[in-house]
Amino acid sequence: MQSSIPTIDPSDYERIIFFTGAGMSAESGVHTYRGRGGIWHQYRWEEYACEEAFMSRPEAVMDFHQLRRAEVLKCHPHQGHRLIAELERQHPGVSIVTQNIDGMHQRAGSERVVELHGSLWRLRCPYHGSHEDIAPGYKTQFCSECGHRLRPDIIWFGDHLNPRVVEQADQMISGSDLFIAIGTSGVVYPAAGYPQLAHRSGARCISINLEPPNDATTYNDVLLGEAGKTLPMMFRSGSKGE
Ligand SMILES: [Zn+2]
Repeated sequence: MQSSIPTIDPSDYERIIFFTGAGMSAESGVHTYRGRGGIWHQYRWEEYACEEAFMSRPEAVMDFHQLRRAEVLKCHPHQGHRLIAELERQHPGVSIVTQNIDGMHQRAGSERVVELHGSLWRLRCPYHGSHEDIAPGYKTQFCSECGHRLRPDIIWFGDHLNPRVVEQADQMISGSDLFIAIGTSGVVYPAAGYPQLAHRSGARCISINLEPPNDATTYNDVLLGEAGKTLPMMFRSGSKGE
């Protein structure tokens, strides 16, 4: 069941959450990890994306993530990313919760971004926390304070999500009155529970995706299509139409 595209006036809402998944980045040409033709069909995650791999072959793991960074830099934020960033500048209640680690929202100009799965653009020391490392290559792979090898600050297989980040996302989503899920398949928890959480909290829930979501009944509007085309039609006043 597909809805026609509603016209949304952001000033009708106090807290607007854009919840984005792999499909949002795929529209920019970023390779997905899990989907058809995704990175985990080409590489074994056991060798590149878990703590055990990092312990046994840190150089290979860091090189793998460096390749991901280089690929992301070849891609660019699309109209959907730019429109969300523009809405964020106009409306203090707009925030983003993303499953993506590629930093594409920030490159489009967004600042209020909660990254559930971390970021390719941060490195972390187990003792001294994480810091940004935004450059084509790593600035350094060793902690400046203790010399410990740094690892990407992302959630690998077998890692737990950061409880502070999860709590922040829960609070934001349960406090939202407009929840727009984009390009997310709704199968990976806890993110898979977020539409339900928003729905139970009374938010209007909209899905924008190429395929209908698993939990379609959670949504007031199910829009099939690309975010880069759908969002400008929804937020006509917010679109700059680049
Ligand atoms: Zn350190």
